[in-house]
Amino acid sequence: MGRVRVAVNGFGTIGKRVAEAVMLQPDMELVGVVKTRPDYVAAYAVSRGIALYVPEDKLGAFQEMGLRVAGTLQELLEKVDVVVDATPGGVGAKYKPIYEKHGVKAIFQGGEKPEVAELSFSTLCNYEQALGRKSLRVVSCNTTALLRGICTLRSLAPIRHVRATIVRRAADPKETKRGPVNAIVPNPARAPSHHAVDVKTVIPDLDIVTMAVVVPTTLMHVHVVYARLGKNVQKEDVVNTFLDAPRILLADDAMGLASTADLVEYARDLGRKRYDIPELVIWENSITVNGDEVMWMQAVHQESIVVPENIDAIRAVAELASTAEETIAVTDKTLGLLRGRIPAAPA
Ligand code: NAD
Repeated sequence: MGRVRVAVNGFGTIGKRVAEAVMLQPDMELVGVVKTRPDYVAAYAVSRGIALYVPEDKLGAFQEMGLRVAGTLQELLEKVDVVVDATPGGVGAKYKPIYEKHGVKAIFQGGEKPEVAELSFSTLCNYEQALGRKSLRVVSCNTTALLRGICTLRSLAPIRHVRATIVRRAADPKETKRGPVNAIVPNPARAPSHHAVDVKTVIPDLDIVTMAVVVPTTLMHVHVVYARLGKNVQKEDVVNTFLDAPRILLADDAMGLASTADLVEYARDLGRKRYDIPELVIWENSITVNGDEVMWMQAVHQESIVVPENIDAIRAVAELASTAEETIAVTDKTLGLLRGRIPAAPA
């Protein structure tokens, strides 16, 4: 089969990263992206050779700003097999009938309600269930992170229950209108937070409760996770399980990687575009084992962690890879993901 033709609707934080990741895949072609505003981001897309498509009523505005437009959203949908919807939360559901009308498979994001798609998706947990579906929803950044840890740990022992505290970043770096600037806000002040509910859209029978607070930072989220397993394990087994897993990095605070700021600085030192860290980072010294109880702390780069899963989701609906291992091998190599201990070798 030829390369799968992909459109990305919404070229913001998630959309621009997914679009550029699609451009790196040997089995995919980025046909174009949809922008609604004729701003510097649209100019950036043009400068990267990405074809811009716009809603019909916005054609004039783009022309006025001297931005070259390849066509309308409807025209783009005529040319593709799969659309990745990366519009703001809740907006994707409004586009769903348009995607269906054009017979295009759709990948939605975690800001949409689960009902928007046939299946909520996480590569390590349910790739095979996603094969050939008409639509998938890649769960949110926090949920993707929780599921990477949980589904990796499940390969070591059955999980009886999970309890987690989510410390959320207040805003993405570019967002100027969100807060808090100087407060810690329960999110909400009761359990469970929506993260546990979202995890259960992928693993319905998992006993999980989460609570969340929002703090004034833009860099990353941090999770404190507690899992009770179905058997006793040793710390070494847990460490080795995380070390062997794709898309997980172990960080050593004694090496100076003691905060989200340090992790971001390390990503900058690596020359990573936009200082992205699509891997889940687990602090190795935080891993604590007490019989059948396991605890750890993990950091989540909200802007990039869902990008590999979006690429896998495209591969699943287009049936380009029949197993999770197969898609992970291609996605992680092309995106330069690392695994193991920092400093880590390429996947
Ligand atoms: P964003 O605001 O950065 O980007 C959204 C893009 O869609 C912008 O370019 C905006 O101009 C465009 N847009 C707005 N209205 C549109 C419309 N009607 N039609 C087409 N495009 C439109 O948002 P984001 O952070 O990239 O979030 C996108 C989705 O990804 C949401 O569901 C969100 O919950 C989810 N998500 C976000 C993060 C994160 O941390 N930013 C992490 C994981 C998942």
